[in-house]
Amino acid sequence: MKYHVGVIAGDGIGPEITAEARKVLDKVGAVFGHQFDYEDILMGGCSIDAVGVPLTDEAIAQAKASDAVLMGSIGGNTATSPWYQLEPSKRPEAGLLKLRKSLQLFANLRPAYLYNELKEACPLKDDIIGDGFDMMIMRELTGGLYFGKRVTEVRDGLMTAEDTLTYNEEEIRRIAKRAFDIAGKRRKKVTSVDKANVIDSSRLWRKIVDETAKEYPDIAYEHMLVDNCAMQLVKDPKQFDVILTENMFGDILSDEASMLTGSIGMLPSASLNDTKFGLYEPSGGSAPDIAGKGIANPIATILSAAMMLRYSFDLDQEADAVEAAVKQVLRDGYRTIDIMPQQEDKKAGIKQIGTAQMGDMICERIVK
Ligand code: NAD
Repeated sequence: MKYHVGVIAGDGIGPEITAEARKVLDKVGAVFGHQFDYEDILMGGCSIDAVGVPLTDEAIAQAKASDAVLMGSIGGNTATSPWYQLEPSKRPEAGLLKLRKSLQLFANLRPAYLYNELKEACPLKDDIIGDGFDMMIMRELTGGLYFGKRVTEVRDGLMTAEDTLTYNEEEIRRIAKRAFDIAGKRRKKVTSVDKANVIDSSRLWRKIVDETAKEYPDIAYEHMLVDNCAMQLVKDPKQFDVILTENMFGDILSDEASMLTGSIGMLPSASLNDTKFGLYEPSGGSAPDIAGKGIANPIATILSAAMMLRYSFDLDQEADAVEAAVKQVLRDGYRTIDIMPQQEDKKAGIKQIGTAQMGDMICERIVK
């Protein structure tokens, strides 16, 4: 098959890490008989420098015409870069928000997976970690508190701020369906997280998830209150497969879960709409402190490309092959600087390598 991939290399380490993900896709193409062609799309600080705005209509049209978009990262040093002297709507991040909105990317997926070889980076005790954990946090991305009406005004002589948390049944149903579909590709369990003991939007959330669950009799599901979920993540993370939740709860819980895995350089993400289209990007930023040095970890971007294979192109076997190659590289003792063991006694047999070498090592291990 032929796939047309839009590539937003972006700023900082973005061009370095997307180059490695493209290498990996090309290797997948060679091994499994697919063809990936790429179209560069300008977004972020590099777009400001080139054309004066972080995202043009032309760039949005290019993204829409792609089968999926692979992104590196955008932005610079927020204290020193001239991009941050501009008003907020003209800064690099405004481009990303506009792109997400234009493409109606309402479902954000962030896996939290603990690699056996990186266990020591996990802050939890060994008896809690056990054989590791593997969960997928699915966060609603375009509704809820962050998009509701807000106002700050004087009421009865007191400064008062108000934010509105709104969800309609369609917004809940479409992401619930996505979560159950994705659980079907995994260990077939959904934990829907809300605060239904207190707030109305959560009560509606729970009702619609109950209705949606009836369409998926082979998927186990449960409800969990968000405060309990925050505790369970550190008490027994193994219990989770897919966690489904609204925007703000997902924002907080996905950061908590990502800390359990130890390194930002290992964490992929996907943002999906209700077609097969998705925007795939590492969870980290543009890392201006290490940009251009050839030392950034490309694994999060490579795993984002694997998510693209799985969720946009339905190439599960190919995605498995990339994920297996990443595991094998770690097993063989190769690490970028961010995932090097800290203690001297753990460094035996471990070799530090750079961005491009890591991409090459992963490519070498991709087999059918
Ligand atoms: P950051 O994620 O860029 O960096 C935080 C730390 O993690 C740094 O020490 C960095 O070197 C390290 N790091 C991040 N990715 C790494 C990788 N792949 N390999 C090795 N180390 C890695 O966060 P920040 O410094 O707060 O933000 C820098 C810029 O990135 C800002 O402009 C911010 O707005 C932007 N940002 C963009 C995105 C995005 O593109 N989606 C996301 C977050 C932050």
